[in-house]
Amino acid sequence: MNISTHEVFNQSTPFEGVNLFRANRPLQDALRLHAPGLSSAGLNALGAEAGSAATQTHARLANSHPPVLLSHDRYGHRIDQVEFHPSYHALLGSALGHGLHGTPWARGPGSHVERAAAFMLFTEAEPAVLCPVSMSYAVAPALRANPALAADWGPKLASTAHDPRFLPHTQKSAVTMGMGMTEKQGGSDVRANTTRAEADGEDAWGRRFVLTGHKWFFSAPMCDAFLVLAQAPAGLSCFFLPRFRPDGSVNAIHIQRLKHKLGNHANASAEVEFQRASAWLVGEEGRGVPQILAMGALTRLDCALGTAGLMRHALSLALHHTSQRQAFGKRLIEQPMMKNVLADLALESEAATALAMRLARAVDRTEHGQDGDGFEMIMRRVLTPIAKFWVCKRGSLFAQEAMECLGGNGYVEAHGEGVMARIYREMPRNSIWEGAGNIMALDLLRALRSGAASPTSRHGPVADAMMFEVAAARKAHPAVARLAERVAAGLDGATDEAQARRLARDVALLVQASLLFTSSSEAVFSAFCASRLDGAADVFGLLPAGLDLDAIIARAMPTEIDSTMKTQEFP
Ligand SMILES: Cc1cc2nc3c(=O)[nH]c(=O)nc-3n(C[C@H](O)[C@H](O)[C@H](O)COP(=O)(O)OP(=O)(O)OC[C@H]3O[C@@H](n4cnc5c(N)ncnc54)[C@H](O)[C@@H]3O)c2cc1C
Repeated sequence: MNISTHEVFNQSTPFEGVNLFRANRPLQDALRLHAPGLSSAGLNALGAEAGSAATQTHARLANSHPPVLLSHDRYGHRIDQVEFHPSYHALLGSALGHGLHGTPWARGPGSHVERAAAFMLFTEAEPAVLCPVSMSYAVAPALRANPALAADWGPKLASTAHDPRFLPHTQKSAVTMGMGMTEKQGGSDVRANTTRAEADGEDAWGRRFVLTGHKWFFSAPMCDAFLVLAQAPAGLSCFFLPRFRPDGSVNAIHIQRLKHKLGNHANASAEVEFQRASAWLVGEEGRGVPQILAMGALTRLDCALGTAGLMRHALSLALHHTSQRQAFGKRLIEQPMMKNVLADLALESEAATALAMRLARAVDRTEHGQDGDGFEMIMRRVLTPIAKFWVCKRGSLFAQEAMECLGGNGYVEAHGEGVMARIYREMPRNSIWEGAGNIMALDLLRALRSGAASPTSRHGPVADAMMFEVAAARKAHPAVARLAERVAAGLDGATDEAQARRLARDVALLVQASLLFTSSSEAVFSAFCASRLDGAADVFGLLPAGLDLDAIIARAMPTEIDSTMKTQEFP
């Protein structure tokens, strides 16, 4: 006999079947600002795919069936391979197919901005598979320092195919690359690396070495090759380390173990040992740190983009849920205090999108030779650590508050269906990897030290560039003007490490306010200034009285924009 004890009601529906690009007005407005002529056809297609139920199923399966290390075959031979669920490959194939990795390097102006928007959108589908995608994007400038390798590997790094076979690159239609810096005794301080590099001759790829040592974090180990750091006779150097040697033999990269991580479950992060593995010098011997940081700077961009994407996803889930769930006689979204929380989250999410996309524009302009006066290069150098620091730092707090909007359901995994829990576990990764918060703030000081003071100006070149960037917003709101004064003074000769986080936060807030003035609504700009510029609030939901919360929430709602909205249709 079938006994029903109750009816299920007042639960929200799944958030699926939404075109995540068309439903993201802040992102569309950021694109209008940074790449006004761009066709949105590709992003539209990606937005539909990323928001589909089929993609969500792949994301659930890829995360609930994590990768497995196959260290040996059944006869006892080492094979050092990692097996992924078919859904991982479906997602990775989709990301590569949409050109989220190497394609911008072969295309014209605007391509890095478009790719940045696509990266954010894909994060809303599944962030973990983007690890090898991001590294394959970021490796291009660093690899150019060895022209033979760049010529040989570049085209396949930009291919939109996904070829997961464990074969030499000559037999594959597409390849991916990773990076290995972190060792047990030091990650931030890579100069502590102990992996040894011994000269081993020269061939078509240049100076060949053999590496002996280990890496403590080595993500996406099924990539076809890696840039790694090792101690050569002339000092710490950058090497190209392929999974197969040119003669077709498997290189001596032994996977010891896969990390059991808090989140990021679909992606494999390995511990590896090199037992006289063959590797080729990239760049100058002894100059390995700046060489590999050409790659690290771009993965830092992706940390900011990825976190902004995760924030947008968490916000959409919170808005979707609170629009349907009733408590105390009203929909949650109509409860005054919930409005305050949601509007505050919306401000943070849009500001994160704006800052990450601004950095993408600086990358685009500098890579495509559209930076005659060097202004965008200063912005790129300074905003990289700032965006990585501030956006990623805010991510975990943001996810916790968005989760709370869903009540108990937000905390529940439900065999991988609980997306909010997955987002929450993913957030700290972007903050830690590729330089944790303190390292980013210290890098800001380094960037300031590298720019000599200009004799003709009251401030140094970085402070000057920053004041130029925010000039219009400074006139528009007194809180922006006050913060700009503090930032200009702070950037001038800043050396105090203990205060570097404060400076990084202030620059981030200033640039975010300026971007919101240029590309967002009056309601968003004035609420952002009122709530953050004269002293950051400690928790979300403390917006002062008198702000237009309804307008802020309406702008953030993940409903697909139709032609009746006042913003012009994205071309
Ligand atoms: C999921 C995941 C994947 C990863 N994948 C890779 C990968 O593929 N390749 C790779 O090379 N690495 C990878 N990493 C490693 C990551 O980049 C490092 O963990 C990170 O750089 C920090 O290094 P560490 O763990 O040695 O910590 P430490 O360097 O010991 O730092 C610990 C803390 O001290 C702080 N600190 C350090 N120096 C200073 C200072 N001078 N002043 C103030 N504070 C300081 C840091 O900010 C940090 O908060 C991955 C990490 C994670 C979590």
